[in-house]
Amino acid sequence: ITVEELVNASYERIHEVDDEVHAFLTLNEENAKAQAKELDKQADKTAALFGMPSGIKDNIVTKSLRTTCASQFLDNFHDPLYNATVVQKLSEQKAVTIGKLNMDEFAMGSSNENSSYEPTRNPWNTNYVPGGSSGGSAAAVAAGEVLFALGSDTGGSIRQPAAFCGVVGLKPTYGRVSRFGLVAFASSLDQIGPLTRTVEDNARVLEVIAGHDGMDSTSADIEVPAYTEALTNDVKGLKIAVPKEYLSEGVAPEVKASVMEALKVYESLGATWEEVSLPHSKYAVATYYLLSSSEASANLARFDGVRYGVRSENADNMIDMFKKSRSEGFGEEVKRRIMLGTFALSSGYYDAYYKKAQKVRTLIKQDFEQIFQDYDVVIGPTTPTPAFKVGEKVDDPLTMYANDILTIPVNLAGVPGISIPCGFAKEGLPIGLQIIGKHFDEATVYRTAHAYE
Ligand code: GLN
Repeated sequence: ITVEELVNASYERIHEVDDEVHAFLTLNEENAKAQAKELDKQADKTAALFGMPSGIKDNIVTKSLRTTCASQFLDNFHDPLYNATVVQKLSEQKAVTIGKLNMDEFAMGSSNENSSYEPTRNPWNTNYVPGGSSGGSAAAVAAGEVLFALGSDTGGSIRQPAAFCGVVGLKPTYGRVSRFGLVAFASSLDQIGPLTRTVEDNARVLEVIAGHDGMDSTSADIEVPAYTEALTNDVKGLKIAVPKEYLSEGVAPEVKASVMEALKVYESLGATWEEVSLPHSKYAVATYYLLSSSEASANLARFDGVRYGVRSENADNMIDMFKKSRSEGFGEEVKRRIMLGTFALSSGYYDAYYKKAQKVRTLIKQDFEQIFQDYDVVIGPTTPTPAFKVGEKVDDPLTMYANDILTIPVNLAGVPGISIPCGFAKEGLPIGLQIIGKHFDEATVYRTAHAYE
C-alpha cells in the first residue's frame, strides 16, 4: 500500500463518519496529502512511523496548524509558531498529521461535553460519551479514522477514554515524555501518551515520542528502552497486586467480572495475584481537584486577551479587557477550576488546602512504592463503569469527577498506567483493564498488557 492510499483512506473514513463522531476540530488535508505524495517518492522507507496517519489532541501545538484546546478563547489560534517536541519527533519518523482532535476545554472533563465545539460521541454507540478529556483521540482511533493518536493525561484523560472506546491508551511515567508544546493544565501531573488499536502499536509510538528534552526541565534523562522488544508474552512468575479499593462498591458488577476474568487469564499464563490495599486512594479525587485546579489557576493566567486568542471587543480599558476576554473566552468548567484553584492558593487558605493536599499526595505515592516492593504490576479496572450517556452527568460536576477515582492516583504518584480492552458490557460498550507499573517501567506494563491481548 502507498502512503497516498493510506492517507486518502483516512480522510475518506473521516468524511464518512465524523459528522456523527465529531472527533476532529481541524483537518490538515491538503498538507497531509501533499506530504503523502512526497513520502511515496522517497527511496528510504525505514523511518519508524513511515506514512502512518495520526491525530493530535488539540492541546498539543502544531506549527501553522490551528490549536484551540477546544476553547472559544483560542478559536482563532491558527498559526502556532513551533511544534511540540512530540510532534517534531513524530515528523522526524515520517508520521503524517491528519488533523487535530476534540477534547474537553483545556483538558478539563471526563466526557468531552466540556468542548466548546460539538462534543465527540462514542463510536460504539453515539448516545454515549467517548470519555475525556482525550475523547477525540480515543474515538478517532476506535472509529478507524487514524492509526494512532496522541492524548494527554492529567487525571485519567488518556486511560478513561481509551476504556470507554475500547482502545489501548498509555499514560507514561511523569517525565518520560516531553511536555514542551503541551498547553499546560496541571504541570506536575500532565503527561502526553499514545492511543492505539494494539499494545504493539502503542509501544512503537512511545519509543518515538519518549526521551529527554532540553526544552522541558521535568523530562527525565533516562534511556528509552526498545519497548517493542519487551512484548515477549512471557508473564510466568509475574506478581500482580489487586487493590481492594479498586473493586469496591462503586464498581459495576460487569466491570468487576471482566477484571476477574482477566486475572484468570493471567493465572493460566503462570502469573500470580494477591489482594492488597492502597489505603489513601480514597482521598485521591479531593487531592487531585485541589492540586490540579491550583496549578490550572496559575497556568491559565497567561490567557488575558493580549498574547493569545480572542480579545473582547467590549472593553473600555486594559483591566476591563482582561476581565471581559476571560469571562467571554473561558467556559463554565474552566472558570469553576480557576476559582477553586485561586481560592485554595490564597493566603490564609494555603496551609489548610494546598499544603495539606500536597502531603496527601505524598502518602498516595508511598502507597504505590510500598506495593511495588513486592509486586511487579498493579491491576484493576480503568473506570468504575463503562461509558455513560450523553447528558447524564453534565449538570453534576461531582459525579463527573468521581468517574476518575481509579485513574487519578496514578497521576498523583507519577507512575505509568495503561488501559486495554477487556470485554464488553451491555449495549456493546467496551470495558477497560488498567495495568499500573513502577516508575519508568513501561516495558513491564506493555509486556503484561500484550500477554493478555
Ligand atoms: N477528568 C479529569 C479532569 O477533569 C482528568 C482530566 C485530564 O486528565 N486531563 O480534571
